[in-house]
Amino acid sequence: MSADPAELRDSLSGDVLTSTDREYERARLCFNLLIDRRPALIARCADADDVATALAFGQEKGLEIAVRGGGHNPAGHCAVDAGLVIDLSRMRNVEVDPENGIAVSEGGATWLDFDAATQAHGLVTPGGVVGSTGVTGLTLGGGIGHLTAQHGLTCDNLLSAELVTPGGERVRASAAENPELLWGLRGGGGNFGVVTRTEFRLHRLERVVGGRLDYEGDAVREALRAFRDVDRHAGDEISIQCQISTQEDLTPTLVVVPSYTGPDEETEEIRALRSVPGLVNDGVREQSFLDQQRVFDPGYGVDRNYWKGHFVRELPDELIDLLVDRMSALGRPPGAILIESLRGAPKDFDPDGAALGYRDAAFNLSVMASWIDPAADDEHIAWARETAAAIEPWSVRGGYANYMQADEPLERVRGAFGPDNFARLQALKSQYDPENLLHRNQNIPPAG
Ligand SMILES: Cc1cc2nc3c(=O)[nH]c(=O)nc-3n(C[C@H](O)[C@H](O)[C@H](O)COP(=O)(O)OP(=O)(O)OC[C@H]3O[C@@H](n4cnc5c(N)ncnc54)[C@H](O)[C@@H]3O)c2cc1C
Repeated sequence: MSADPAELRDSLSGDVLTSTDREYERARLCFNLLIDRRPALIARCADADDVATALAFGQEKGLEIAVRGGGHNPAGHCAVDAGLVIDLSRMRNVEVDPENGIAVSEGGATWLDFDAATQAHGLVTPGGVVGSTGVTGLTLGGGIGHLTAQHGLTCDNLLSAELVTPGGERVRASAAENPELLWGLRGGGGNFGVVTRTEFRLHRLERVVGGRLDYEGDAVREALRAFRDVDRHAGDEISIQCQISTQEDLTPTLVVVPSYTGPDEETEEIRALRSVPGLVNDGVREQSFLDQQRVFDPGYGVDRNYWKGHFVRELPDELIDLLVDRMSALGRPPGAILIESLRGAPKDFDPDGAALGYRDAAFNLSVMASWIDPAADDEHIAWARETAAAIEPWSVRGGYANYMQADEPLERVRGAFGPDNFARLQALKSQYDPENLLHRNQNIPPAG
């Protein structure tokens, strides 16, 4: 059945792009250039009514449907060849209620939108570390960032959500209404409907002591050991992430990014990190949280990416050496390995309050191959797969759903939740999306 764009245009408050529109090329672009898809229609919805209309239109015309928030998912789930994209990039309003410490965000808001609105009141919720990532997309997979140790995963701070289901129903999930759905949204991804509004708990935050510490050369191994030891004993007022990469000549490099929100100007943890040999740049200082959110600032749609990783229970010397050795295995810079700590507040939340199953891990290790030349696709993808396979003996769970590519087998997705939670998610999927219309995601197939 053919889909006439004019028919959809006439029924939306937002707009509809096709390949003849000037903005189409930019609107179809994903963060990951490895994904190059040409949707038939991109419906840039203005509100929840538009979302319901677009969902109904897509089903009536038999179009495959993708949902786009910030466009960051490395699997490229936000784009679909010859199908319909429900694009939420016009739904980015964020309302802050400072008295009650709550923010309500539309389904397409990015972290830049969210942080700018909440920081205007000296408030924050723990989000992702790159401003152009979608708030909703990140939250639905968990959410790890610069405030994880202090305030938990992003989804731990999700109080409620409003969805349009594939059946066109408007559903609210909160502790009081449909609590099982709220549980599923905390990690279960975009499987149950298009989320049009999310409500978050906010925390007071005036500034951080943060920025980056750059190390290079052989001392990177020692710096990684120091990161691990400092992180293990650190208090809940500091989150620390780090990323290993290489220079062109394969000299290893490491960036360690602390984010301290306590009252002091100097902390024992930052002092210890500064004392490690091999430190070539010390960019740690008191700064605004908005500046902290710019420490990692990759360009959008500039390179090809293939990510694969594991949650691990520990970071022993043997594993650190393996990670550093893998950075030279390709014979040219392969990308990076990101290490995110899950210490602190994530352990304080009720594990039964969220569908995700990795709260007990010590770190998330993400192997992030990135490159420019399409001719190098196979080699970089193989490097990421082999590196992730080498990490597997320390794995505590399947990988982080937010960083998964589309080729992960169902077992890896199931592993990320554990069998019991996965069965509960499948029951929710059967209730809200029995036909699996929303399958362009880290998919949870309906039960049965
Ligand atoms: C550069 C970069 C930095 C990142 N940093 C972090 C980080 O610091 N911490 C972290 O935890 N993760 C991070 N991520 C991973 C990111 O959280 C996930 O990839 C997430 O899915 C991106 O959401 P998005 O809306 O930007 O992406 P999109 O590609 O637009 O959406 C991805 C999928 O999310 C679902 N989705 C998005 N919005 C909605 C909605 N409103 N309703 C229903 N479903 C929806 C859909 O299934 C959609 O296909 C990062 C990714 C990149 C590329």
